[in-house]
Amino acid sequence: MTVLLEEVPDRVLAVYAHPDDPDVSCGGTLARWAGAGAEVHVLICTNGAKGTTDADVDPHDLARRRADEAGEAARLLGLAGQHFLGYPDGELEDDSALRATLVSWVRKLRPLTVLGPDPTAVFFGEDYFNHRDHRTTGFALLDALSPASALPHYFPEAGVAYQAETALLSGTLEPTVWVDVTATIDDKVAAVSCHRSQFPDDGEWVRRAVRERCQEDGRRAGVGYAEGFRRLRLGG
Ligand SMILES: [Zn+2]
Repeated sequence: MTVLLEEVPDRVLAVYAHPDDPDVSCGGTLARWAGAGAEVHVLICTNGAKGTTDADVDPHDLARRRADEAGEAARLLGLAGQHFLGYPDGELEDDSALRATLVSWVRKLRPLTVLGPDPTAVFFGEDYFNHRDHRTTGFALLDALSPASALPHYFPEAGVAYQAETALLSGTLEPTVWVDVTATIDDKVAAVSCHRSQFPDDGEWVRRAVRERCQEDGRRAGVGYAEGFRRLRLGG
């Protein structure tokens, strides 16, 4: 059975590894919810400083450029907040410092729905396997959401215990729910297009790929364009 999520959560937090990840993973959903009045925040764990094949690029310059690109995308999507943790790209560790930081953001923003990468999705056909930072972010986020943020004796210095209701994991091989993004697919494509440092050409290929992926999910969901997620009901 296809489950289409129609309800718009009041407060949303999306936690991803790199500056372009939220837009690629769930930009249509974030735009739809922000447009419907939700307070949508995005947390980006690393600075993205290694995201290039060009050995002559200065990593600090690239990190700055990518933050600018992400800021541009955030304005397009109508985000309420975009926050950078600034960990070194490619070196994110699922340690208690990262989990404490994620817990503090969850307790501070009190989101009903949290989005992040599905860390169990490793191999996507023969062409791609999931980036280490994505897997690390996904597992750290899951552990931060349950039980850590909900129980007061975990990281007591990180704020008052809070349980998010729902986690939606993107980039999953086992989607269980979909969000209809037909009305915001153009916003998603525009947001992904902001990350000019991440494609060698004018980005036409990326724009087509984003559209095709959402169209494929749309077919599974019975709508024009969709984004699919593994849903976890955490309580609340
Ligand atoms: Zn990434």
